[in-house]
Amino acid sequence: MSAGRPRALIVGAGPAGLHVAGRLAAGGAAVTVYDRMPSPARKFLLAGRGGLNLTHSEPRSSFLARYGEASGWLTPALDGFPPPALRAFVAGLGEATFIGSSGRVFPRSFKASPLLRAWLARLRDQGVAFRFRRRFTAIRSDGSLAFDGPEEAEAATGDVVLLALGGASWPRMGSDGGWVPVLERTGIGVRPLAPANMGVEIDWSADFAARFAGSPLKRIVARCGSRSAAGEAVITAEGLEGGVVYALSATLRDEVAVHGAARLAIDLKPDLTEAALAMRIASARSKDSLSSVLKKKLGLAPQAASLLREASAEPPRDPLALATLIKGVPLTILGVRPLDRAISSAGGIRRDQVTADFELRALPGTFVAGEMLDWEAPTGGYLLQATFATAEAAAQGMARHIGITLPPVATERW
Ligand SMILES: Cc1cc2nc3c(=O)[nH]c(=O)nc-3n(C[C@H](O)[C@H](O)[C@H](O)COP(=O)(O)OP(=O)(O)OC[C@H]3O[C@@H](n4cnc5c(N)ncnc54)[C@H](O)[C@@H]3O)c2cc1C
Repeated sequence: MSAGRPRALIVGAGPAGLHVAGRLAAGGAAVTVYDRMPSPARKFLLAGRGGLNLTHSEPRSSFLARYGEASGWLTPALDGFPPPALRAFVAGLGEATFIGSSGRVFPRSFKASPLLRAWLARLRDQGVAFRFRRRFTAIRSDGSLAFDGPEEAEAATGDVVLLALGGASWPRMGSDGGWVPVLERTGIGVRPLAPANMGVEIDWSADFAARFAGSPLKRIVARCGSRSAAGEAVITAEGLEGGVVYALSATLRDEVAVHGAARLAIDLKPDLTEAALAMRIASARSKDSLSSVLKKKLGLAPQAASLLREASAEPPRDPLALATLIKGVPLTILGVRPLDRAISSAGGIRRDQVTADFELRALPGTFVAGEMLDWEAPTGGYLLQATFATAEAAAQGMARHIGITLPPVATERW
């Protein structure tokens, strides 16, 4: 340990790295943050363009279930920094939050930029130093970290280190997964990064893709095997994207990987039973065209009506058979959109590689946090919540490692 204040070296100025920087600075550490980009938190700012869904207000048990097989692993971290703690943190930066009609939590401004400005101002007041345009490239045999800088290579050390390098979606924002081979060379086990919350590929007819790319399918339920999700999807030239697709993305991705394709069924009228739908269809006059029945009797938007023709060249006129089709339009998913276009990454540093507070077993004194860990979750605020929660757990472990005490987390019970 160096004489004077303990030194914390943080690589990655996304929300995970910035959270740890603030916490350790508040505990008295001298903190330096490195990042390969010219400015911090670019993906966080991008998330702000969609309203910045910070977290979710649903009950603890359903919240935790969103992390699937990683749920048990992440529970202690999420209990240590639950959604109310994130909301209190954001409020402390001058941004009150509110719960939207879907239960999602947003900052009042619906943006990330005012929040980030206040956050960076506070970090600078706390004495946190930043070194941008420095790309982490290696862990050297003496334990120091090597960086490629704008002019020359440099090395840095700390009494404690955090790597918070994110996943590999939207690499233009900074996180490009370049850390994977670097850590693997040091003997750290990484599950390959894969797209999560990504679009899927469907072989639309040229006419359908040209007419409807960009159009929403509203108030639908999508099913894949035993899993289902309610909400909205957006038709793209390549297939589908949007909330219901993202909610099923892990299942769809894994099905495609194993079987080469996946089946997705879309219920275009989830509020009506098959029998009720069939009655409405049967009430049409026999001379009414199919398009007019779908529009006038069922209120289907043109893109929803055309989707039936994509799935079945000759949709049945028999009321019950047509109702059955509308309740489960079968689509074949031929592939998933690539990682660089996904919202987040699955895979990352395996859980058996870290201690309970996210210290690398192979590199004592080096901690990891955020999306570079091996968990995934749907959109809905679960990504940022786990990013902050794992960062808080790492900050606690780092504080213990260098013998400082952190101020308590401001939170109500979850
Ligand atoms: C379009 C979009 C919308 C999103 N919307 C939401 C949302 O509304 N709600 C939500 O919960 N989540 C959302 N997310 C996900 C969320 O932004 C991420 O999960 C979160 O930013 C992860 O934080 P992190 O700190 O782990 O990593 P990142 O934010 O990716 O930060 C990692 C940092 O490490 C730096 N870095 C990477 N490699 C190196 C290297 N070799 N050397 C030096 N620096 C390096 C990067 O430049 C970056 O600054 C969205 C993501 C996208 C792409």
